[in-house]
Amino acid sequence: MDIRPDASPLIDRYSRRITYLRVSVTDRCDFRCVYCMAEEMHFLPKADILTLEELDRLSSAFITRGVRKLRITGGEPLVRRDIMTLFRRLSRHLDSSRLDELTLTTNGSQLERYAADLAALGVRRINVSIDSLDPAKFRVITRRGDLGQVMAGLKAAQRAGLAVKINTVALKDVNDDELDRLVAWCGEEGFDLTLIETMPLGEVDEDRTDHYLPLSEVRQRLAERWTLTPTDYRTGGPARYVTVKETGRRLGFITPLSHNFCESCNRVRLTCTGTLYMCLGQEDAVDLRAPLRASSTDAELHQAIDRAMWLKPKGHDFVIDRQGAKPAVARHMSVTGG
Ligand code: SAM
Ligand code: SF4
Repeated sequence: MDIRPDASPLIDRYSRRITYLRVSVTDRCDFRCVYCMAEEMHFLPKADILTLEELDRLSSAFITRGVRKLRITGGEPLVRRDIMTLFRRLSRHLDSSRLDELTLTTNGSQLERYAADLAALGVRRINVSIDSLDPAKFRVITRRGDLGQVMAGLKAAQRAGLAVKINTVALKDVNDDELDRLVAWCGEEGFDLTLIETMPLGEVDEDRTDHYLPLSEVRQRLAERWTLTPTDYRTGGPARYVTVKETGRRLGFITPLSHNFCESCNRVRLTCTGTLYMCLGQEDAVDLRAPLRASSTDAELHQAIDRAMWLKPKGHDFVIDRQGAKPAVARHMSVTGG
């Protein structure tokens, strides 16, 4: 029997069991989405970033503690050099059934190149972020993205047999006129769709309140055309799902500014520098890089992880309705990992 203390499950002080780790492998990105980044970003020095070996060691320590689902994210995870090496290493946990799911969130720009490799390494489902189906608008939102390239990536994902969920940030006066079309398109392509409210994370060049669109409004509007049936489907996160009867696909609404999901929160987030954030909307964090680098055994690392569990807050403090208000959290989503 395994009686090592470092194999004990991760349970926080509100009795929530942590089974889901999101790992941001880089803060860099080939896009500069207007709600996510400023045009001029100062990225982290390379020396601060964990190596792929370190990311594997850290993730594996969490898997020892009962994490069953790993999401690789960023920044843009697929722009990190040799990223397939990390997927290759992590896939051993799928082979041993210690991990139920290895997945990623991507902007899709590099998917054409990597979709087949990802599928071969055991990735079954991916999230791809697309905020507009109009190439010109897509370029404005991403400041440099090429929609054609992302579409080619999606085709490659379909050929490789990957299930795709599209993530779309709903933006007032930007893409609110397209949400209907997105539901229809996802139905045609066989994709699920999740709509996301803008979150006040990190300074960007504009005021996010200008484009804040409550999803309650969006849902009401979509319900005029589509039959939306609520489902029990849950991921332990802030998304609530309905089924679109006409397309048979799932449609999710992520409303992180409401608190209705914190009680069932099952996740923590690791940055590419080894900082563990216990909540997307709070500053509480524990540095795991120092204990990781201090010793080749994982004892100190597990102690730090235990400390982190104690610090996981009950919920977040997001507010976005005040015009000109500072972001609730100074770090960008690209640092914590979306
Ligand atoms: N680059 C990848 C991508 O775009 O999918 C992965 C990282 S990105 C930070 C993850 C998700 O966070 C994307 O779907 C993006 O639209 C979303 N996101 C980024 N900043 C956000 C914000 N301030 N509010 C809401 N969603 C945000
Ligand atoms: Fe890059 Fe994703 Fe942020 Fe867009 S949302 S800038 S693709 S990290």
